[in-house]
Amino acid sequence: IQRVFESSALLPATTADGHRLEIGANIGGPEDCERAIERGAEGVGLYRTESLYMQHDSFPDEEEQYAAYREVAETLAPHPVILRTLDLGGDKHLSDYFVQNESNPFMGFRAIRFCLEHRELFKDQLRAILRASAVGNVKIMYPMISTQDELVAANLLLEEAKNECRERNQKFDEKIEVGAMIEIPGAAYTCDLLAEHCQFFSIGTNDLIQYLLAVDRVNDRIAHLYEPNHPAVIRTLNTIISTANKHNIHVGVCGEMAGDPIYVPLLFGLGANEISATGTVLPEIKYLIRKMKLSDAQALAKRVLKESDPYAIKLLLTRFYEAQMSDVLEPID
Ligand code: PEP
Ligand code: MG
Repeated sequence: IQRVFESSALLPATTADGHRLEIGANIGGPEDCERAIERGAEGVGLYRTESLYMQHDSFPDEEEQYAAYREVAETLAPHPVILRTLDLGGDKHLSDYFVQNESNPFMGFRAIRFCLEHRELFKDQLRAILRASAVGNVKIMYPMISTQDELVAANLLLEEAKNECRERNQKFDEKIEVGAMIEIPGAAYTCDLLAEHCQFFSIGTNDLIQYLLAVDRVNDRIAHLYEPNHPAVIRTLNTIISTANKHNIHVGVCGEMAGDPIYVPLLFGLGANEISATGTVLPEIKYLIRKMKLSDAQALAKRVLKESDPYAIKLLLTRFYEAQMSDVLEPID
């Protein structure tokens, strides 16, 4: 089956009724780029930049970051690369350097909260990203945004970083786009306000589910409660995506839900513009997209929104997936 999927990896992600959809890869650094392109990525929807920080016992300097970001931007050009700024904390630790003694680290001093207090570190990264934008199609994305103020504050630091680049005669894309990750319920339900301060959203379903359902994403003891098919998750996705559509904000999904083929029709059916997932699953997703009609995916999303039972939702999604893939799947009794 994998060989059949791979045969469509480099074909356009166009649905059977003629809609071209956007498919990106989630990467951790330059080393992932070639494989992602081979597997059909048409951009990077999530570059988790913290991996560069996690390889060190200290923060990488601007030049080191620039080298990595530039390589990714150049390799992917002209496709877009969404670089997410440092998302440390919670499940992402910096071995000995970044030890926080917090009783509740997932809700603690992390990600954009950390960056807004460590402004010089943050601006080192912003300048490295800006400089990489001179050689490719680079966008900036902030993680764990929970308020409008954070987004405005991050944008002000970005303006400072731009001025610093100008003073040093360093080129960057003056029209660089900025996005917010929507992965905190408070952000999801005020994303109309966030839309005024950015050009795109990317939904982080991993954290969104964790915070919506109060289920630690790395605690195996309660893994059965970590439920993407919970109607609260589906309704929240619908709220974010329809708000984004209404405000003409590009909306992608980069959490694990986007990398599980059964959810791909639902996400596009709800109106997402893009999904981004780890490279390995992209050929299968491409194959599925080329089989399905967007109009059928939209009808599926409507049915799913009316359903109250997670098992019934999962069944609808699985049946839809199987119907599209019937030529490659073994019949199931
Ligand atoms: C997410 O939260 O869904 C996401 C994509 O980010 P991460 O898994 O890196 O927290
Ligand atoms: Mg996250």
